[in-house]
Amino acid sequence: MNLPAEMRAVVCHGPKDYRLETRPVPSLGEDDILIQVEAVGVCASDLKCYHGAAKFWGGEGRAQWAQENVISGHEITGTVVQGSESGLNFHGVEIGDRVVVEQIVPCGECRYCHRGEYWMCGPHDMFGFRNFDGGMAEYMLIPTRGLVHKISKEIPAHHAAFAEPLSCALHAVERAKLQFEDTLVIAGAGPIGLGVIAGARQKNPLRIIALDMDDAKLELAKRCGADLTINIREEDAVAKVKELTDGYGADVYIEATGHPSGVVQGLEMLRKLGRFVEYSVFGSETSVDWSIISDDKELDVYGAHLGPHTWPAAIKLIESGKLPLDEICTNQFGLEQFQDALDMVGDSAGASVKVSILPQK
Ligand SMILES: [Zn+2]
Ligand SMILES: [Zn+2]
Repeated sequence: MNLPAEMRAVVCHGPKDYRLETRPVPSLGEDDILIQVEAVGVCASDLKCYHGAAKFWGGEGRAQWAQENVISGHEITGTVVQGSESGLNFHGVEIGDRVVVEQIVPCGECRYCHRGEYWMCGPHDMFGFRNFDGGMAEYMLIPTRGLVHKISKEIPAHHAAFAEPLSCALHAVERAKLQFEDTLVIAGAGPIGLGVIAGARQKNPLRIIALDMDDAKLELAKRCGADLTINIREEDAVAKVKELTDGYGADVYIEATGHPSGVVQGLEMLRKLGRFVEYSVFGSETSVDWSIISDDKELDVYGAHLGPHTWPAAIKLIESGKLPLDEICTNQFGLEQFQDALDMVGDSAGASVKVSILPQK
């Protein structure tokens, strides 16, 4: 394949300053490979970074996650177009393969990487945020330490890119240690919440209940496998879940709203000895009485981050055709319309679920 010298790319220059620019097509080192990006999902975390959240830009005693002058985008699928023999072998791919790319670039040297806990890597470089350019570009370099997985070319590219949020959602399900007797509540029917529902369905607990404020998203939650949905605008979700569980409350609550009220609601809704899983990235702090966790209920509280070891299952689920991906992937834009894509994800009252950018469009 004859590669051009230059490409279009969306470059982050700081909060609220993302620009479409012309960049050189990356040149490869020894074991790097190059992909032609077919689709990149826009994530709620991209939006929080765009709006300057302390989690990404430091301040409030936090380290800085994001950097200026990096090409954005971490929910990536593309076709392998270049690589040396050793680079291709190293990554287990051939020219022409379609791959999805794990968002983290593990350092391979820290305590966590040495123990196989690569998703919590100390330096924590991520495509599209820090040290490594992401997928909002026509081409993207996958460095030696980057992790790719093959995925079918038979499905639309924006469906394939859903492997990233879905792998994260499956990890949240694993953290919940689901049991068959469980009543599981998932708060938030956005891309992660829907992925959690789809993943939980594979494990078949007693009852999967989805909460959201949007009836269309709750309908989609049902199509992903929820047994029951509650619109928290119209019904008292805590009372309803207690009623369904003989007054005890939910066994498991997975928080995927990104809003502090979703945390408080979950602590109220869980039974004693229940499990709380936190997946969201928050834009602000949550204040809550921690004695609910100790004295009142003796809860297990689990964090969940990224999707370690769940990519093959996420890919299999996407390839199976069992998910309503046409409805989950609501909007696709070209690179030129990146601002529209970001604004659409930022419109919390809007109807979009997964917004994608197709760089070849
Ligand atoms: Zn994401
Ligand atoms: Zn590391």
